[in-house]
Amino acid sequence: MSIALDIAHETTTRPVTGAKVPLIGLPKTGVTAALRDFGLNEKEARMRASQLWNWIYVNGTTEFSAMTNIAKGFRTELEQAFSLDRPEIVTEQVSNDGTRKWLFRFRDPAQPNMPPVDVETVYIPEADRGTLCVSSQVGCTLTCTFCHTGTQKLVRNLTAGEILSQVLMARERLGDFPGGTRPDDGGLVPGGDNRAVTNIVMMGMGEPLYNYENVKQALLIAQAGDAISLSRRRITLSTSGVVPYIEPTGREIAVQLAISLHAVRDDLRNELVPINKKWNLESLLEACRTYPGLNNARRITFEYVMLKGINDSDADARELVRLLAKIPAKINLIPFNPWPGSNYECSDWERIERFADIVNRAGYASPVRTPRGRDIAAACGQLKSESERLSKKQRDALEVAETID
Ligand code: SAH
Ligand code: SF4
Repeated sequence: MSIALDIAHETTTRPVTGAKVPLIGLPKTGVTAALRDFGLNEKEARMRASQLWNWIYVNGTTEFSAMTNIAKGFRTELEQAFSLDRPEIVTEQVSNDGTRKWLFRFRDPAQPNMPPVDVETVYIPEADRGTLCVSSQVGCTLTCTFCHTGTQKLVRNLTAGEILSQVLMARERLGDFPGGTRPDDGGLVPGGDNRAVTNIVMMGMGEPLYNYENVKQALLIAQAGDAISLSRRRITLSTSGVVPYIEPTGREIAVQLAISLHAVRDDLRNELVPINKKWNLESLLEACRTYPGLNNARRITFEYVMLKGINDSDADARELVRLLAKIPAKINLIPFNPWPGSNYECSDWERIERFADIVNRAGYASPVRTPRGRDIAAACGQLKSESERLSKKQRDALEVAETID
């Protein structure tokens, strides 16, 4: 059987002669195509693709050898051509409020000589849900002044497989796959028959809409009934305001949208969320008003970080309500989470309450987000990894080494 693959049009993997093709993150049609290229006929390729999907996403299997409905010899052949690689766990920290933070290390199978990248993923258990905060990039190209990730230059985009692997790893560690056991932490992880991971928020490291195709591919697999099967109402994508990708997000991924608003005037937003200089408040709010699928049952969440003396006055609160008047919206006030070297302070509690009061009286309910996992630097805006972008010289040297290999 041949292992020459021509699936680049359907996937974001970069097949390299001799390298195993990663299956995690490929759409099912991509797995079918890969199996066809591997030598199976159409019918067989489809059947095997369904089996593989079930093993990977429903059972959380990481070894071909465990796939008992596939003949042993064929399992070995698959093993030689494809990989089910997930990241290595560098650290796993548990906060005293049950929040967990993992540092995952990914190696790019297509470029084995490149240094691995490290990514943070956070799990937040609550009584009625368990939310996984997933990263889309290593670092960020944007430089929002209150955000720790914004101080880490973009190293690279994560592939769809790397985005999904964060979900698979969390589900495994939390005992969400058949036969798994919940961590013994006094019942902080929702238990029983319920899943530990019930919701996904794309609010980890990076700007998801600057890695649109990979995020889309990953979130479609997260929703697929025969894969991870999470309702699109339980998946939220947060953006700092990449306006041209807002409409496609609603139309093609159809998930809940969150907007990092943080300021109600262009001059201040230009400073706090510099992407505003490219797409200002007016264009951002217009994209929100026309977000596909928007209605009173499916509202947009507007995130607003509370920065002392910067954006937290009564006038700001009133302007916020006025700006959002015609948009089905929820408002999420986020107490600022400090990080080493940050130049802001969180608004006083009375100020946040007063701000929330104005917002509440305009008809928006329970808006303050309780900071979670601050003791392990897992709260909003505290994520950052040590991975650095290599200089051009370093990258060239590694590419040369790779060619020689
Ligand atoms: N890049 C995307 C998603 C990641 S950030 C975005 O900007 O929307 C997730 C949320 O945390 C965003 O609303 C972000 O503005 C907010 N955030 C960033 N730094 C923060 C901090 N130090 N304290 C509180 N919230 C912060
Ligand atoms: Fe990037 Fe979002 Fe942080 Fe801004 S708030 S720097 S867009 S991760």
